[in-house]
Amino acid sequence: MQLIRVGAPGHEHPGILTADGTRLDCSEFGEDWDERFFGSDGLTRLALWLERHAASLPSVPASVRLGSCIARPSKIICIGLNYRAHAMETGAPIPAEPIIFFKSTTALCGPNDDVIIPPGSEKTDWEVELAVVIGKTARYVSEAEAMHHVAGYALHNDYSERAYQLERGGQWVKGKSCDTFAPLGPFLATTDEIADPHALPLWLAVNGERLQDSTTGDMIFSVPALVSYLSQFMTLLPGDVISTGTPAGVGLGLKPPRYLAPGDVVELGIEGLGTSRQVAAAYPGRSA
Ligand code: ZN
Repeated sequence: MQLIRVGAPGHEHPGILTADGTRLDCSEFGEDWDERFFGSDGLTRLALWLERHAASLPSVPASVRLGSCIARPSKIICIGLNYRAHAMETGAPIPAEPIIFFKSTTALCGPNDDVIIPPGSEKTDWEVELAVVIGKTARYVSEAEAMHHVAGYALHNDYSERAYQLERGGQWVKGKSCDTFAPLGPFLATTDEIADPHALPLWLAVNGERLQDSTTGDMIFSVPALVSYLSQFMTLLPGDVISTGTPAGVGLGLKPPRYLAPGDVVELGIEGLGTSRQVAAAYPGRSA
């Protein structure tokens, strides 16, 4: 299944995308795609419910905004430097253990919403990433068990303000958490749709120029390794998002470095997980 959420920010309705690309409104199911839904075997319940109801569900016009493909989760955990070439472009050593950091859940937004450049910011950067959504509570799970705790996958752009992240001291979370810095979607693909999460081409272009072009096969730490690793330090709840790191080609790694300005168009995609598009915009009331 492909899960979507449609409607105005904060008022999204749950829906699904059918095989022919039709958007169906699943409001009648009575649940949002959130922690309670995933944690109560919602995917199985939804699939059974759709067998009886899909034919009578209202379709949603393509003009309606897509929201984040899941409701706000308890946490968004990101993995740093999980692609060799990206670690090299930033001048960092290949990590011996996964580098983890948090991203504020308020950064979550729709896949095609504008990315808002924070007031005074000069170093807003892009990072195409495979996001993993947890389906079942994970606590001290082994790598062998880890995939049973995954609900599915989504396309994510882990926007980063490099000055906040790297020049202002403290933790990376400051440069990762601005509003609109986590466009997620267009849809959540359940695990049965993605035969191998480690063989997915992923790419990102700015103003039509392809700057990131890689495959999830280049990840250093695999999806089950990351789920297992994180679960040794914290409980992963249903709906939680793990963003698995970005390949080379971010603005910080270009020579000279390059960052987003209002009007720039960022497009990205992962095979099997769709594409998204964000236009960079100045913070309201600021010209740049
Ligand atoms: Zn990242």
